[in-house]
Amino acid sequence: MEKYTLSLHHYLSFVVTLFGSLLGSFSNVVVFRSAESRSVIFPPSACRSCNHKLSPLDLIPVFGWIFLGGACRYCKEPISPQYPLVEAFMAFITGLSFYKTGPGLNFVLVSGFAAIWFVASVVFVRQEQKKYSPFLWAAVYASLLLRPLLPGISFNSKVSAIYTGAFFFALLVALIAMSKKDFHEYFSKAALLYILLLASPGLAYFWIAVAISAIIWFAERFETQAKHGVKAFFALNIVYIIIFMFKMPHFFSLNF
Ligand SMILES: [Zn+2]
Repeated sequence: MEKYTLSLHHYLSFVVTLFGSLLGSFSNVVVFRSAESRSVIFPPSACRSCNHKLSPLDLIPVFGWIFLGGACRYCKEPISPQYPLVEAFMAFITGLSFYKTGPGLNFVLVSGFAAIWFVASVVFVRQEQKKYSPFLWAAVYASLLLRPLLPGISFNSKVSAIYTGAFFFALLVALIAMSKKDFHEYFSKAALLYILLLASPGLAYFWIAVAISAIIWFAERFETQAKHGVKAFFALNIVYIIIFMFKMPHFFSLNF
């Protein structure tokens, strides 16, 4: 690995960040179209208001939206800020995980785990799903399969007890969900909570997550608070993804 220098690493991190923004652009398509049960491959991207086909320039991640002033070039209808925000956050996730882990399997594990977690959170906060989103299933599988593979985890008895606890806590939420009409909404909440608890990089983070979740759920019992509760839970996941990004790869060592 003599050839892999620091400047090459910085350059590749930049390239991976750009790639991440494209991945974010694709995530937007998945989020919007899966809610409408449409194909993610076809037809090509068009304005959601006037249906005008978008030019490659309009589709440049983050900057396309900024150059257009957040409105469609053709019909001047506002374009949701969800587009640039998702693109920017996906760029952040992939870029930072590469910067911290370097090329290799660890990069795929860390960025994959965080990206699935993030997209599932966006699907959750939009609440347009009337059935189980493939992404929420992916979220469950990701946490089950990827999490134990991530470095920095040694399965001593204390850690195992916490993960078993997290599993039963999430299972309890899922069971309560089954008695509710809006099952899918509770299911997605259980899936996200499960990842959030599993991904907590330390005992303190774990208990803070449990405490905040409990407060949010208590608040959600009141009709007027329900919408805020969903947004608060989304925000909690975003904060934890950021903590995960900075804390988790800490276990990797990239030595030059
Ligand atoms: Zn338009």
